[in-house]
Amino acid sequence: MAKNSKIEWTNHTANLWWGCTKVHEGCDNCYALSFSKRIGNDIWGDDKPRRMVADVWDNLKTWQNNAKKANEIHRVFVASMMDIFEKSKDNMVDHKGNPIEGSTGILRDKFFNEVVPASPNLMFLLLTKRPSNINKMIPKEWLTNPPKNVMFGTSPVNTKTAKGLIKQLQKVNGYKFLSVEPQLENITNIDLTGIDWVIQGGESGHGKRPFDPDWGRTLRDICKERNVPYFFKQIDKKQEIPEDLKVRQYPKFFKSENELLIDYHFSVDAIQWITDYTSEVNVMKFNNLYSDLSFDEYVINDDALQLTEKIKNQNITFFEEYKSGFID
Ligand code: SF4
Repeated sequence: MAKNSKIEWTNHTANLWWGCTKVHEGCDNCYALSFSKRIGNDIWGDDKPRRMVADVWDNLKTWQNNAKKANEIHRVFVASMMDIFEKSKDNMVDHKGNPIEGSTGILRDKFFNEVVPASPNLMFLLLTKRPSNINKMIPKEWLTNPPKNVMFGTSPVNTKTAKGLIKQLQKVNGYKFLSVEPQLENITNIDLTGIDWVIQGGESGHGKRPFDPDWGRTLRDICKERNVPYFFKQIDKKQEIPEDLKVRQYPKFFKSENELLIDYHFSVDAIQWITDYTSEVNVMKFNNLYSDLSFDEYVINDDALQLTEKIKNQNITFFEEYKSGFID
């Protein structure tokens, strides 16, 4: 699978523009700000312009075409150098800092109205520290009929921000995720109602604040208890991740239309349902069927064996790459 991003949980990263304003303590060491400063871009703060990104629109088209050719769903993180739900800015500059015409609101609308509907093979992960703006800024029809290729996410870093930001995110219709990074304290009480995915990690880079692996275990166990896929990203990118935190799960809807990702927890009825659909499915990926990891003690049961036989008899391509359910 093509991967243009160094971020572990995504294939690509798309920035519609560069620039932002700090929101909470998670922003204190914002790497996007430091990077922009280093290359001479003065684009952080409410009174500062935002920088246009020229090639993003062509890249988005290319990624959709490549994912379609591969018959896959590729994840696109929006974004690492901006916050898509920041209030619109009408003062924009080019990469040299020269003023140019444009508005971040227009770019955002173009992305929602043109790119999202034209990209069925891309799953857009829209991460914001301003979830209270989501419902005000998305197209009206998304309020009742959210697109299947968009996930809305927010970034809490401690108990206080978890409480406030998650409450706002829960008002949004559609798939939702949390990126708990850089986590700054243990979060023992977190409401995961309506949350489809949790990513967790400590801070990396210059001035990084400490992350205790036990904070990882706390959230990992809460996710397990609430049946929410959990992805541990990093301690600080330097320290080795402890074995029991090497858990990288993905939501099951990260799949293309003619793939069927099957969980091992199926009943005889489920097998019937699945086999009824096999004429439309040419690839099946098994999730947890043969898991040998310790996070959950899965065993192959009779139902699983029956389904395996049925599928083999129908000459369906049989993939075992999802066998652990935790994909590195
Ligand atoms: S919201 Fe994100 S991009 Fe904006 S200042 Fe905070 S960390 Fe940086």
